[in-house]
Amino acid sequence: MALITCKECEKQVSDQAASCPHCGAPVKAATPAPQQQQTNYQQQAAAQQKSQQKSMMKTMLFSTLISAAVSFVSRLFYRRW
Ligand SMILES: [Zn+2]
Repeated sequence: MALITCKECEKQVSDQAASCPHCGAPVKAATPAPQQQQTNYQQQAAAQQKSQQKSMMKTMLFSTLISAAVSFVSRLFYRRW
């Protein structure tokens, strides 16, 4: 248990208290709910998966372009000889 400074009245408030006993403002430590943090984490993981899929698509597109370019160049090469 520690004392923190209230944002509203700048008096000493216990971090265990949900709200400031002096002015009634919500205490910082009580605001973030663990369930919200979990959903945020899940959303972050989903966003990471989406970006990974995007980079996979980019890599596939890039390799397709490279193979197309290689076949084009090799065709030119065979025509010359
Ligand atoms: Zn206060």
